[in-house]
Amino acid sequence: MTLTPDLALVEKALDNLERQEVRVLVWGLVDSALSEEEVDETLRAILNENQNLAADPGCTFDTEMRFRQRLLDLGYLTQVFGRPLAPPRYRTRMAEGIRLFARLRQLFPRKHEGADWVSGATLVADYRLLWRPRKYPARDLTPADAHTAIAARVADPRMLAGVKRWLDEGEQSWRFARFQIDASARILEGLSLRRPRGTLVAAGTGSGKTLAFYLPALAWLSAERKSQPRSRGVRVLALYPRNELLKDQLAEVYGQARKFDDELGRVGTTVSVGVLFGDTPFNVGKIAQQWRNTRGACPFFRCPDCGGELQLHSDQVAEGDARLGCRSCGSGVDSRQLRFTRKAMMDDPPDILFTSVEMMNQRLADSTMRHLFGLGPLAERTPSLMLLDEIHLYTGTFGAQVAYLLRRWSHLTRRQTHFVGLSATIAEGAAFFASLVGLDQSVVEEISPNADHMVSEGAEYMLALRGDPVSQTALLSTPRSRR
Ligand SMILES: [Zn+2]
Repeated sequence: MTLTPDLALVEKALDNLERQEVRVLVWGLVDSALSEEEVDETLRAILNENQNLAADPGCTFDTEMRFRQRLLDLGYLTQVFGRPLAPPRYRTRMAEGIRLFARLRQLFPRKHEGADWVSGATLVADYRLLWRPRKYPARDLTPADAHTAIAARVADPRMLAGVKRWLDEGEQSWRFARFQIDASARILEGLSLRRPRGTLVAAGTGSGKTLAFYLPALAWLSAERKSQPRSRGVRVLALYPRNELLKDQLAEVYGQARKFDDELGRVGTTVSVGVLFGDTPFNVGKIAQQWRNTRGACPFFRCPDCGGELQLHSDQVAEGDARLGCRSCGSGVDSRQLRFTRKAMMDDPPDILFTSVEMMNQRLADSTMRHLFGLGPLAERTPSLMLLDEIHLYTGTFGAQVAYLLRRWSHLTRRQTHFVGLSATIAEGAAFFASLVGLDQSVVEEISPNADHMVSEGAEYMLALRGDPVSQTALLSTPRSRR
């Protein structure tokens, strides 16, 4: 990402100022502040070291005083008011934020009115702060590079055509990270082998690991749909530990799947997505009752065009023809592309099914729904790909239960699935993933950003607060007082 000259200088200033503050903050001294001389000296040095940026016509400050004012205007720097006539002192938003956390008090509406907040019990006894430069994987591969790298490993021309379509329909200015493309190639390769395999994509939050899953999944699905437009059954099962995350990914994948609409429309088909969890109504007739808390608005999907609320267009239609319409822009989604009732899914399973661990566990033995998981006489196929997101959450008893569920399912489906796990960076990732999904470690590979492919920008903070046992407040009061 290219920053404007202003923001590039502001980022450097924050890095340097925070570095000075952290030296004191790690000792627990939160009331300290930087003098005006210290701030100005730092800013002057940055202007001198980056004269090309400072001289850019887009830069709105040329002296350290104007630079300081810009930081104050942006809220990155706060002036600290001490005694009257005392010289001004400053804190960055980070140091001020940590001071506020460390000084939290428990207040009750009637008990602590006016200036009496001082008598409120303190909530935080101590904290630990870790400050370090933020690193993320470099994105330097063009769509053409990505295609070449995948074509070197995947032979199937139908899959490659899907990859090309997906890349061509995207922004040509998009850049990909090496690990995203390596993971995509391995997953596509695994799909053509049709043998059980595992791929763990481990990377930090916001590094783009989801793309490493939906690029190959959609490229492959579009190829499958094109060659067998009338085929039925769930091909990709996406399993989530938490419903909130499921909703975000559902919207993303629904949007990405639309890249294939024109091409697949010519053979009369489309890539469809379904969502099965607590908020999914049984049929359109049950929507009014099931979605009453949101006054009839769909609680798990919003308008793909404007983000507005979606509601059932009419309940006087057949299940498969039902449509959700936008309350704001009139646009909408139909059941062909998004199965939003259980009945619609049971009648015609979607290509990609998003569900939760809990729901899968419940429905595996349900004779009316188990075909969605590739089981029973109604199943026309077994899912070839299973995505497990946030696998670092599958630890302890919960992890053991999920591992048991996946073994049971693999056994019943006769082991044909390629498992893809996404996680934050974890120790011994491949071994952990292999034991979670019940595969031998020799067929599991972990793909994560290589240290040589990381770029550094800005800083990241980790702050741990310790509750105050002396004040006798409940620990839960501490996070709650944040908002
Ligand atoms: Zn809309």
